[in-house]
Amino acid sequence: MINDTIAAISTAVGEGGIAVIRVSGPDAIRGADRVFRGRIRLPEADTHTVHYGHIVDPASGETVEEVLLTIMRGPRSFTAEDVVEIGAHGGYIAVKKVLELLLRQEGIRLADPGEFTKRAFLNGRIDLAQAEAVIDLIRSKSDRAYSVALKQVEGSLSKRIKALRHSLVELLAHIEVNIDYPEHDVAEMTSSFIRERSGEAKEEIGRLLKTASEGKILREGITTAIVGRPNVGKSSLLNALAQESKAIVTDIPGTTRDVIEEYVTLGGIPLRLLDTAGIRETVDVVERIGVERSRTALEEADLILFVLNNNEELHQDERELLSKLDGRSFIILVNKSDLPGKLEMSELEAAVSAERIVRMSVAQEQGLGELERVISGMFFEGRIESGDPTYVSNVRHISLLKRAADALEDAIAATDAGIPIDLVQIDVRTSWELLGEVIGDSVGESLIDQIFSQFCLGK
Ligand code: GDP
Ligand code: ZN
Repeated sequence: MINDTIAAISTAVGEGGIAVIRVSGPDAIRGADRVFRGRIRLPEADTHTVHYGHIVDPASGETVEEVLLTIMRGPRSFTAEDVVEIGAHGGYIAVKKVLELLLRQEGIRLADPGEFTKRAFLNGRIDLAQAEAVIDLIRSKSDRAYSVALKQVEGSLSKRIKALRHSLVELLAHIEVNIDYPEHDVAEMTSSFIRERSGEAKEEIGRLLKTASEGKILREGITTAIVGRPNVGKSSLLNALAQESKAIVTDIPGTTRDVIEEYVTLGGIPLRLLDTAGIRETVDVVERIGVERSRTALEEADLILFVLNNNEELHQDERELLSKLDGRSFIILVNKSDLPGKLEMSELEAAVSAERIVRMSVAQEQGLGELERVISGMFFEGRIESGDPTYVSNVRHISLLKRAADALEDAIAATDAGIPIDLVQIDVRTSWELLGEVIGDSVGESLIDQIFSQFCLGK
């Protein structure tokens, strides 16, 4: 049984950053009330409410900091205990002073590193994003996905969403102050503050959404279309890759579309391979490449493996397809390198850059390692570009984030249109609530049950 109350600075203090001091435990609300001067006494405050006021040293009467204080009564809090979060604008000194003041109150001690998380865990209370990440961890199909899932467990998504929400809560409080005291000096600033904060938050949501497609890749694999004329070795390649792969996740014969799907992991990269010809070519052996046949697969492919036959001259269909690869992620596989070369390599090399061309012989099991190297190189090149450790990889997250961004856009539009700020406040609140749903802060128990029911027993 945990019966003491802990406090710590829970966000990084930095340039213009907001520091949050978190207090958790049975004395959190009473302890905070001793140093807080606002419109109400904290023990009387409802759960999940935000209060504007000042931190005052009860001994000296000195005002230490202007704060926004959030009350979350257990079990609906991060730790499942009573939690008070104190958001302070000030620099490190002011924040430290607030913390020191709290630690002087009876029953409150400094938290150990990770102790809030430990309590959340012990009380069976980790948030949805984290829970979902843990589920992904269990299901992850590659080492790469594993480490991404791990980062999400550590809460980088949660952290960014919490920071977003905190920023919106501040905005809400400012709006509220303006509604309550229209003569207050924040009045003239409110409109521009709404635009600024909503705009910033919308941008941050946009950045989170940008990682969404990447997250999907890690979940489902890079959709990879194997294309080429009949008989160049597409099916042989698919089989070889499937055998090479140590983790074939599933094998679904294409029933709804004319493709064969195979999930393989190559160099730590999950691939969802589509053999676009697989079925029909046995029916119609002399069929042309048929851009129409592989069109769907080509369109949806993240990566195109275009197989050519080293033992034959370039066909008109192949030249046509080559000209359509511009702007796509593709690799040209010159197969059957064990046979005499009849393919116009110089023409090929003039058309595409050399690092996109891999010579191989599926029959002789040559070139697969090189293909693996090229694929993972392309993947990680793209990865470095974004360089962001937070991955939004869940359909539910994506739709919530989009709606949260829309609500902020509404808030900005309403402000521009001169709509009364108490109405604008509704949009901001909606956005805040939607963001809360991503991390499970404002979700009903049933959804949480549903998510947790996905855990295997004993995990
Ligand atoms: P697809 O029609 O493109 O799917 O081609 P297949 O994979 O069915 O292969 C067509 C024929 O080429 C088969 O007889 C394969 O054994 C043969 N083949 C595939 N790869 C190679 C290779 O690297 N070298 C040689 N000599 N034959 C190959
Ligand atoms: Zn085939």
